[in-house]
Amino acid sequence: MLQDIGPHVFRNEFSLKRPPRASDWVMAFRDRNILVSGNGKDVPLRLPEVSSFDKGKLLYLFSADSRACYLYTGDPDALGIPGFSWQSTVTLRSENPRLICFAGFTAWHLHSWYITNRFCGKCGAETAHSENERALFCPRCGNIIYPRIAPAVIVGITDGDRLLITRYRDRPYRGPALIAGFCEIGETPEQTASREAMEEVGIRIRDLTYAGSQPWGLDGNLLMGFMAKADGNTRIIRDENELAEAVWLSREEIPEPDTVISLTRTMISNFKRHGFNFGNGNGITGGN
Ligand SMILES: [Zn+2]
Repeated sequence: MLQDIGPHVFRNEFSLKRPPRASDWVMAFRDRNILVSGNGKDVPLRLPEVSSFDKGKLLYLFSADSRACYLYTGDPDALGIPGFSWQSTVTLRSENPRLICFAGFTAWHLHSWYITNRFCGKCGAETAHSENERALFCPRCGNIIYPRIAPAVIVGITDGDRLLITRYRDRPYRGPALIAGFCEIGETPEQTASREAMEEVGIRIRDLTYAGSQPWGLDGNLLMGFMAKADGNTRIIRDENELAEAVWLSREEIPEPDTVISLTRTMISNFKRHGFNFGNGNGITGGN
């Protein structure tokens, strides 16, 4: 999966004190675009380096191995670095190379949080950066704002050798999907799985088995995956507002996903190859 970047090591310990070095990476965003060179296809993506930026406009994000990643906080329209251009963050799904793509997803997550919390939601004053933890705080009323991570659940519903495959309606992603939804206030991830299964396809589930997790920074999510068995009736009652399609496919019929960048596709691939009991390690380690 995208976050499986070994042998590289991702370090997200917070620090405002690490001084930028010339070869550190800079993440610059404009709307939903990132400043990169390459295309992620035949030419691997590259990030611009600190030496091209005004160091006073860089905010430390995290490190990958010994290289740090900074967020550019200045005016994106003022940037002009030869060889680099604005490309949709969708390019980061290319996984070419995976380290830069995962770093880009995660930087986008933080960038989105920073730009939507410039002012205190409680009193309206301008927020400031905490010096000892990753947080914004309000100098006027003391309100503290931590990065927002939205927990969501993916559930692969099975009936013997079959897996319930869906396709979303009205979302950019058109590939095969599983039942999924956000955790609502007051429920556990397991309860989210049961509720979503009932809401989206009218199926009761049992025997939930943990199948792995994934940070998905492009949408600010933390995904938790479960496999489950249909409990009794397997007749699909599709939520037509949410899903364009919902069908049972046997392991043979399931198309092998072209990539296992996402938890959804990893779960589908693992079920196709190993059946229901792929848990026990496969899903958790990524299965690619
Ligand atoms: Zn305030």
